[in-house]
Amino acid sequence: MAIHRFRALEEVLSRTPIDVKLPSDKVSDFFGQNVFGKEEMRKYLSEEAFVSVMSAMETGTKIDRKMAEQVSNSMKAWAMAKGATHYTHWFQPLTGTTAEKHDAFFTPIENGKAMETFGGGQLVQQEPDASSFPSGGIRNTFEARGYTAWDPTSPAFLIGSTLCIPTIFVSYTGESLDFKTPLLKALSALDKAATDVCQYFDKNVTKVTATLGWEQEYFLVDTALFNARPDLLMTGRTLFGHAPAKGQQLEDHYFGSIPERATEFMRDFEKQAWLLGIPVKTRHNEVAPNQFECAPVFEECNLAVDHNQLLMDVMEKVARSHNFRVLLHEKPYAGVNGSGKHNNWSLGTNTGKNLLSPGKTPKTNLQFLAFFINTIKAVHDNADLLRASIASASNDHRLGANEAPPAIMSIFIGSQLTQIMEDLEKRVKSGKMTPDEKTALKLDIGKIPDILLDNTDRNRTSPFAFTGNKFEFRAVGSSANCAGAMTVLNAIMADQLTLFKKDVERLLESGVEKDEAIFQILVDYIKKSKKILFEGNGYGDDWKQEAKKRGLNNFNTTPAALDAYISKSAMALFERHGIMTQREQEARHAIYLENYTKKIQIESRVMADLAMNQIIPTAIKYQKVLVDNVSGLKNILDSKNFGKVAGPQLEIIMEISDHLGTIKSHVDTMVEERKNANIIEDHKKQAEMYCEKVKTHFEEIRYHVDKLELIIDDENWPLPKYRELLFTK
Ligand code: ADP
Ligand code: MG
Repeated sequence: MAIHRFRALEEVLSRTPIDVKLPSDKVSDFFGQNVFGKEEMRKYLSEEAFVSVMSAMETGTKIDRKMAEQVSNSMKAWAMAKGATHYTHWFQPLTGTTAEKHDAFFTPIENGKAMETFGGGQLVQQEPDASSFPSGGIRNTFEARGYTAWDPTSPAFLIGSTLCIPTIFVSYTGESLDFKTPLLKALSALDKAATDVCQYFDKNVTKVTATLGWEQEYFLVDTALFNARPDLLMTGRTLFGHAPAKGQQLEDHYFGSIPERATEFMRDFEKQAWLLGIPVKTRHNEVAPNQFECAPVFEECNLAVDHNQLLMDVMEKVARSHNFRVLLHEKPYAGVNGSGKHNNWSLGTNTGKNLLSPGKTPKTNLQFLAFFINTIKAVHDNADLLRASIASASNDHRLGANEAPPAIMSIFIGSQLTQIMEDLEKRVKSGKMTPDEKTALKLDIGKIPDILLDNTDRNRTSPFAFTGNKFEFRAVGSSANCAGAMTVLNAIMADQLTLFKKDVERLLESGVEKDEAIFQILVDYIKKSKKILFEGNGYGDDWKQEAKKRGLNNFNTTPAALDAYISKSAMALFERHGIMTQREQEARHAIYLENYTKKIQIESRVMADLAMNQIIPTAIKYQKVLVDNVSGLKNILDSKNFGKVAGPQLEIIMEISDHLGTIKSHVDTMVEERKNANIIEDHKKQAEMYCEKVKTHFEEIRYHVDKLELIIDDENWPLPKYRELLFTK
């Protein structure tokens, strides 16, 4: 396709660049400048109010009305000093994007005058018009209104002239309608359970915080080309497109130099990120052409989730001013590597210790082993739930596609730790151990090196890998809200640690000494969860067979994977820790299924439209050119020469007809199936219909369209091709 035709469109659509004027080139001079953080609070708040907010942040205490009034006034003063005119409650509904509703600070008063107001009430609670956000039936059955409520653990920030206040979003009757609410509850459950367990090792631990460091992968594509692809525009991925002659075979993009235009974009969005206190640190090329990654320094989990959501928005905005579009979809291009978002996760204490990092003494190493083995057990016992937490229509393209972690949950721990697990199993005996045995055991674990990084990071095919001082959940999709995965991971860990404490206490009560009790329970856990450990190639077909033998599930599709959310055990687990009620989980399950159905429905519509309105007409036009050519030849050639000369054209004419016929019949059947699916009321059945009856036509339609792309005149092909999308710098 000729690119020049779309330049004009590009001009029209490019937005005014967002302001990136900075006070200096030194990041430390302006980092967090647009955040109402600790320092600003100290400056703007009274001592009393400051203490109240800090205690809300650290221990979750409530902020009373009077204090809220003070905080809101200071926030307003801070924001207005920076030119803010509006404020908004910023929240994360289950649609997967972020939402906001802007209100002006000014309020009209008497005599045609106005003043700027922002009261405690407006800070603490708002009622957005929530009717268009998914609620899984909660609002229909109960109350039509939902409200947003301030989350003081994540600081307010300024975007342009709007003060943004991170909030949770719940129904009027208190059910969560967003990603943040259950995450905060899971984090608090984890804090409690982990702090309790830490008491066995260190009485000074009073708080445990989950930490998250995400790695965001994405593609960049030229705006003009993007706009010429209705599929990218409407669905975030290309529904058609033949693989380019040059793909990623050479892997020359990976860690190669970043193209200048992309670098400029990165510089700009990084500046924006830094102003917002998002500590992005690394950037590099990824495996596929025009694919990149950025990663921050890890932070407290809730803040890291907010920062990722915010960064995705910032990237999209900044990209537009560089005439780029950011593709956050997990699989924008078939046959080319997809994008993920590794979630690096660990646990930190108020004493500054990383609980998943081995230490220098047997005691800290026993603590490390306790948290390490409990994580393994938590993942083992709840593998299906963890799988559910990353399920989406777009991530289905990636999981198990021989380039991304498989849909089978397993854990990689590396050879050193595998050896340590085996040694522990051999050494620890049930029943009483002799003092010599105990000393030998302690000596052993004292030898765990405090740096395990080298040998543990090699296996890139594992969905859940231990990488020296943290676990890396690699199966999370690039467009996902990390909160989905993090809620589940922290919840199952909270549950497991609670169980661990119970198990240890039982042995203590029966007179077993503390370290020995801990060892015995840990070894019992190793035995029970061994089948989740896998060190081999997760991309291979052998693993699928092996996993099946081990009894590990392999849910390939979202409708099947999501069932784990409403399993009896999952519902009980969430309820036990006050994270979600049964009803909230059922609603969530329904919303996720609905999201899935809608995504496939839209893709199916776009695919049919493109095939019928662009591809088939183009093919027919080209076929007519050939037909005219053939009939012209017939006029000027004798029959012997005609057969020779017109042979290839006739072949192409037939080929085109064959492809057209198959495309048309699949589109017709697909549209019929869609109609059948649309009248089904049950969310699960409908999603299954879309998965099994509608989506199944995609591949066939695409195959024939891509074949047409290869034979039809390039000048007439209506869509920018992969070589243009992927290699335009
Ligand atoms: P990779 O080889 O995967 O790129 P890195 O060492 O660069 O590994 O780390 C990747 C991510 O891990 C970064 O986002 C970093 O902040 C995060 N990370 C490091 N330590 C922790 C931790 N204790 N908790 C959570 N995330 C962490
Ligand atoms: Mg990584």
